[in-house]
Amino acid sequence: METLLRVEDLRTQFHTDAGLVHVVDGVNLELKKGEILGIVGESGCGKSVTSLSIMQLLPKGIGKVTSGNISLEGKDILAMSKSELRKMRGSQISMIFQEPMTSLNPVFKVGDQIMEAIRFHMKLSKKEAKSYAIEMLTKVGISRPESVVDEYPHQLSGGMRQRVMIAIAMACEPKILIADEPTTALDVTIQAQILNLMRQLQQEKGTSIMLITHDLGVVAEMCDRVVVMYAGQVVEETDVKSLFKNPKHPYTKGLLASLPQLTSESDRLNSIPGQVPALDEMPVGCRFAPRCEFRMSVCETSNPALLDTGELHNCRCHLYQEEGVSS
Ligand code: SF4
Ligand code: MG
Repeated sequence: METLLRVEDLRTQFHTDAGLVHVVDGVNLELKKGEILGIVGESGCGKSVTSLSIMQLLPKGIGKVTSGNISLEGKDILAMSKSELRKMRGSQISMIFQEPMTSLNPVFKVGDQIMEAIRFHMKLSKKEAKSYAIEMLTKVGISRPESVVDEYPHQLSGGMRQRVMIAIAMACEPKILIADEPTTALDVTIQAQILNLMRQLQQEKGTSIMLITHDLGVVAEMCDRVVVMYAGQVVEETDVKSLFKNPKHPYTKGLLASLPQLTSESDRLNSIPGQVPALDEMPVGCRFAPRCEFRMSVCETSNPALLDTGELHNCRCHLYQEEGVSS
């Protein structure tokens, strides 16, 4: 499968109270044409910052990419001008977020917000744009689209707002949709509807989707391949079947062990004892070592590399590296 988006050795730095820290520290990943790639991990592991780095939407003066490459069909995103980035966002890569209220503008009608996206990229008249906006609202399953188009975001339910966000994101038929926890704030029924909608769009248009989530249930249902992140790094990468059948990294095993809890009240992955290390107190060795039941002495001093452990199943753990096995 053709690679659309390639991220190589990405490092993204943030100014925090604790000083300058790398929130994303050497991330490699690729998104292929038409696939749904899951990015999984607890909050604070660098999933969202990776996607904001790709979109070049890091908060100004706070976060910046310090090294690495990001390319879209061979074109260097980090070298794009402001106007090239504006063209790229929406028409080639769109993003939807967990809380649509933060990305929908409360003072503009729903239709105007869809129309703005369309008119910038598609050069339609106002009238054409409005009927296209109504068509998009119909496509994402909004009933009475003719009236919703003239309503404000606060007049809509959470599920409807998320549908509107998807309508905006999909309006220009982007090649890539990055969805950051798109259903986390929604109840289970609406969540299933939104995921169905995304899958339908992927099947109809061949859109590649990068789905950022902490929910392995969502991953099992939706994804072709999965990247597991921990403390700013990729720790495991494989197809979805191998991830569930043959997880390798102790962190992934811990996430899977906590899965039954996710179907009950809790929406946090809290069955792995301990916490993600603070950014300014990264262990020198394996970043998962303080929480790992398989920890060996080598783990305390050396951070393992991400290696192919067979059949494109990559894992960052001394258990699967020669020095780890022999110690
Ligand atoms: Fe555990 Fe060591 Fe593997 Fe890290 S490298 S996950 S501490 S076994
Ligand atoms: Mg996040």
